[in-house]
Amino acid sequence: MRALISVSDKTGIVELAQTLHGLGVSLISTGGTAKLLAEKGLPVTEVAEVTNFPEMLDGRVKTLHPKVHGGLLARRDVPEHMAALKTHGIDTIDILIVNLYPFEATVAKPGCTLEDAIENIDIGGPAMVRSAAKNWKDVAVLTDAAQYPAVIDELKVSGKLSDKTRFALSVAAFNRISQYDGAISDYLSSIQFEEGASVPKRSEYPGQANGRFVKLQDLRYGENPHQTAAFYRDLYPAPGSLVTAKQLQGKELSYNNIADADAAWECVKSFDVPACVIVKHANPCGVAVGKDALEAYSKAFQTDPTSAFGGIIALNRVLDGAGAQSISKQFVEVLMAPGYTPEALEVFKAKANVRVLEIALPPGGPSAWDKGLNLTDIKRVGSGLLMQSADNHVLQRADLKVVTKLQPTEQQLEDLLFAWKVAKFVKSNAIVFCKDGMTMGVGAGQMSRLDSARIASIKAGHANLSLQGTAVASDAFFPFRDGLDVVVDAGATCVIQPGGSMRDQEVIDAADERGVVMVYSGVRHFRH
Ligand code: 5GP
Repeated sequence: MRALISVSDKTGIVELAQTLHGLGVSLISTGGTAKLLAEKGLPVTEVAEVTNFPEMLDGRVKTLHPKVHGGLLARRDVPEHMAALKTHGIDTIDILIVNLYPFEATVAKPGCTLEDAIENIDIGGPAMVRSAAKNWKDVAVLTDAAQYPAVIDELKVSGKLSDKTRFALSVAAFNRISQYDGAISDYLSSIQFEEGASVPKRSEYPGQANGRFVKLQDLRYGENPHQTAAFYRDLYPAPGSLVTAKQLQGKELSYNNIADADAAWECVKSFDVPACVIVKHANPCGVAVGKDALEAYSKAFQTDPTSAFGGIIALNRVLDGAGAQSISKQFVEVLMAPGYTPEALEVFKAKANVRVLEIALPPGGPSAWDKGLNLTDIKRVGSGLLMQSADNHVLQRADLKVVTKLQPTEQQLEDLLFAWKVAKFVKSNAIVFCKDGMTMGVGAGQMSRLDSARIASIKAGHANLSLQGTAVASDAFFPFRDGLDVVVDAGATCVIQPGGSMRDQEVIDAADERGVVMVYSGVRHFRH
C-alpha cells in the first residue's frame, strides 16, 4: 500500500505516518511535509521524485500530474485501468492525507491583502482530494486531523479500512471541498474591487449564502413528524450562540426544541443580572430577573405556570442544587445555562429525558454581543432568502423620551426598560406587562395589537397576578388609543412604545387623560 501525505496543518501527522509506516505502507509526500517526516526518521519519497518533475511556480504545481492522479483515480476492478497504469509506470495510491492551504484563516486576518488571499487558494490539494473521494471504493481520503485516531485504530485492528469508513471519509472530503470553495467564493464576491487597492474593501454580505453552513446533525423530523429536517451551523459561529452548546444529558434535541432554545437563549443573554427565560412555541411565557438563578426562575414561572409546562428554560447564571430542585418540579423539555454545580447535575440525572445544555456566555457581556456578534439573520422565503443584520439594538436610559405630563418614577423607568427588553423577543404584535423585574402578562403574535393587549391581561388573570401599577411595553406604536385604554383598564400605570403613528397625539392625550406615564423608545422591535 502507498500513502500520499500533503498537509498544511501538520497536527498529528507524524503519529499517523509512523503508524502507516509500521503497517508497511510506503510514504510519498510534498516538500514541507516530506521534510518534516524525514526529520522524524521516516522513509519518505518526494512527490517530485515520483512525477520526475520538480515542484514549481512557488508550489502552485506540485502534485498536478498523471503519476499522482492516475494512481488515485484508477479503478482497481477494471483491467483496462490497471493495464494503463502499468503501461505508463504508475503505481496506485491507496491512502491520501491532505489538508488545504489555510484560506479561511488567512482572509479572517485583519488587513489581509488580495494577493495573500489568492496565494492561499489551494489548487492541487482539492484536486487530489476530489480524485481520491471519487474513487472511494479503492482509496481512503483523510482531510481533517480529527479523523486520524479512528483511522489509526481501524488500521491497527483490521489492517485495512472498511467500505463504510472509506465512504464516510469520501463524504467528509466533498463536504470539506464544498466549504473551502464556499469560503473562496464568499470572500471574492464580498470584494468591492478597486484598481490598485492591496487590502480590498469588502461588503458586509457575501454574494452567496451557500457554502457557509456545516451540517451538525440530521433531526428525527422537522416542525411536524411528516417533515424531514437537519441542523446546520454557520461556518463561523458567533461565540456564545446556541450551536456552541454542549448537551450534557437527555433525549436528542428536536427541530422545535432547537428553535425554541434559540429564542430563550438569545433573550436570556441580553440581561446583565441573573435572569431566567421560559419559552413555549417560540415566545417567552415568563421572563424575570432576580438575585440568583433560583429567584429569577421562580418569578419567571409565576408569570404563566400553565404555559411553562413542557417549556424551554434558559438561565444566564450557573445553576446550583437548590435551583435545580425547584426547576425539576415542573415538566421541562430543555434546560440551558452557562454551567451547573455537581449537585444540580445530580438532580437531573434522575430525570434522564430532560435535555440539559451547557453554553458559554459570549465574552464581554450583553452590550458587547449586542454590538453585532450575531451578524446576520436569515429567513427562507419561497425559493429565496431574506438576509438582514440581527436586531441588536439596545435601548439606553438616555434614549427615552417622556411624552406625557406625568413623569416616570425611578422604579417605573426600571420596569419600562425591563419590559422593553422582553418585548424585543416576543413575536409581533407584542404587548408585555411587567413589574419588579418580572413579566406579569405576555400577549404575543396576534394580528391586532388590541388583541395582544387583551390576551396579555387575560393571561395575567389566569395566573392570579394583579396588573395594578404595572409597566407595559408595546413593540410598535399604538395605531389608535383603544390599545392604550385596554392596558390602562387592566391596571398599567406606565407605557413604553416607539411612537411614530399618525395618531400619536391622540394616544398621548389619552395617556394624559387616564393619568399614566408614556415614554417613547424611538425604535421598533417587530419580530416575525
Ligand atoms: P507542503 O507543506 O507539504 O510543501 O505542502 C502541503 C500543501 O500543499 C497541502 O496543503 C496541499 O493541499 C498543497 N498542495 C499539494 N499539491 C499541490 C499543488 O499541486 N498545487 C497547490 N497549489 N497546492 C498543492
